[in-house]
Amino acid sequence: MTVSIKQYFKSFTLFELLQGLSVTGRHFLRKKITIQYPEEKTPLSPRFRGLHAQRRYPDGGERCIACKLCEAVCPALAITIESEQRDDGTRRTTRYDIDLFKCIYCGFCQEACPVDAIVETDIFEYHFEERGEQIMTKDKLLAIGDLHEKRISANLAADEPYR
Ligand code: SF4
Ligand code: SF4
Repeated sequence: MTVSIKQYFKSFTLFELLQGLSVTGRHFLRKKITIQYPEEKTPLSPRFRGLHAQRRYPDGGERCIACKLCEAVCPALAITIESEQRDDGTRRTTRYDIDLFKCIYCGFCQEACPVDAIVETDIFEYHFEERGEQIMTKDKLLAIGDLHEKRISANLAADEPYR
């Protein structure tokens, strides 16, 4: 009986509604923690592991020496490399594919590479529309590297103390 009188009093004075509004009021003026993606973005760590890229030296030469360490270390068997020796005696890849459907973005390929050729960029906004587009060929990887070299080297430099 006492409980029902209490409940009746609470609903008569709109106590619970006011209690709820006080929570809304408290949070109304607080700093917002939600962001309006994609217009707004949160900061990314320089160690973020996104889309892969192959890098070149400043003179335009490919960094990759076809040592296949990245292929050997890849736990998802996502990398396929074929190589040959060039006329100047250097070894270069003739095929370098990464299957992004297999990749688990572990970063081991980047860690294993002795010449900083294969890297994971901080690019995470990409998609595929056709079957087979998830295979990142050597040309695609080099094109990404050429386009974003500044950003890649800045991220690598920021990460240097932790490597
Ligand atoms: S990030 Fe990991 S899974 Fe993906 S290609 Fe590199 S080593 Fe393989
Ligand atoms: S990307 Fe690096 S680890 Fe992979 S084959 Fe080329 S040089 Fe070797």
